[in-house]
Amino acid sequence: MNAVMQDGFGRQIDYLRMSVTDRCDFRCVYCMAKNMTFLPRQQVLTLEELQRLATLFVGQGVRKIRLTGGEPLIRPGIVGLCRNIAALPGLRELVMTSNGSQLGRLARPLVEAGVKRMNISLDSLDGQKFRAITRNGDLDQVLGGIEAARGAGFERVKLNCVVMKGRNFDEVPALVQYAIDQRIDISFIEEMPLGDVGRSRGESFCSSDEVRTLIAGRHRLLDSTENSGGPARYVRLERHPDTRIGFISPNSHNFCGSCNRVRMTVEGKLLLCLGQEDALDLRGLLRRYPLDDQPVINAIHNALRGKPLRHDFSPEGEVQIVRFMSMSGG
Ligand code: SAM
Ligand code: SF4
Repeated sequence: MNAVMQDGFGRQIDYLRMSVTDRCDFRCVYCMAKNMTFLPRQQVLTLEELQRLATLFVGQGVRKIRLTGGEPLIRPGIVGLCRNIAALPGLRELVMTSNGSQLGRLARPLVEAGVKRMNISLDSLDGQKFRAITRNGDLDQVLGGIEAARGAGFERVKLNCVVMKGRNFDEVPALVQYAIDQRIDISFIEEMPLGDVGRSRGESFCSSDEVRTLIAGRHRLLDSTENSGGPARYVRLERHPDTRIGFISPNSHNFCGSCNRVRMTVEGKLLLCLGQEDALDLRGLLRRYPLDDQPVINAIHNALRGKPLRHDFSPEGEVQIVRFMSMSGG
């Protein structure tokens, strides 16, 4: 139980983000193109393969797994997969990122299955703008999902919001107020240049510093050194102790020095860095060695030695990585 995974720079890797599907019921403008082609079934890891990989990673020192996608909650069998992964000895926490659309019916079964924390994306509180950003999304359904998640017993529910000029920057104060009213945290994310989504991202790019200045015009902010094991930097609101504001700033504040994570796509590609193309084909290995984990484990340790030192996103936001976020396991 004491295995440890380390990269070539001595960073300990104990956090795995696993994509369980590339599909989604939304088509968010920053994440997907309007018309997407999804993977054929045989290229997607089966539930058994996902489970085998999770077991293997936890055996090698992973302590936290985040299931994501695409939209993880539209993968058939997701609750059973959560139950099996949550029960792995050595895993400290199983958490999830979701768009919230299915949480009305699934929040409670997920808590019962052992999912500890839930991050929910919410980019607007205006039904029309919400639909424009998600292309398919229904705001009321998502707000219902957030409510269900709050009542279901997760240890923490947190909101994620990608901020874009001309789309939802003006809604930042309202979103902060919503988080205060719900007594939950909210993180504001800079848009990353992943995949060709059919528009120039530079036009709408909004830095975390601009978002912070906007919030600071309405609330007194207290810097905080808190860290939830992810890339967010947090501030507290002087008058609202139950809500923290996070800033995830891949473009303007590089957070690679403390990177503790790797990602896995639903095709079984182990991505060593979100902002680089380096990857290991785990699906091929799993299928070549159905009964022997050791070659897979050796390949993972070898690949980790080559984990890049840092990503190089530029604020101009031109596409440098052809993968969509929904493929990368956002
Ligand atoms: N469907 C789920 C959701 O939306 O929360 C999980 C997958 S989604 C890819 C995970 C997170 O990535 C979401 O919070 C989303 O806002 C964020 N995201 C997607 N594309 C992004 C991009 N180009 N830049 C920054 N964040 C992005
Ligand atoms: Fe779907 Fe999440 Fe991507 Fe939006 S951000 S399209 S909800 S995977």
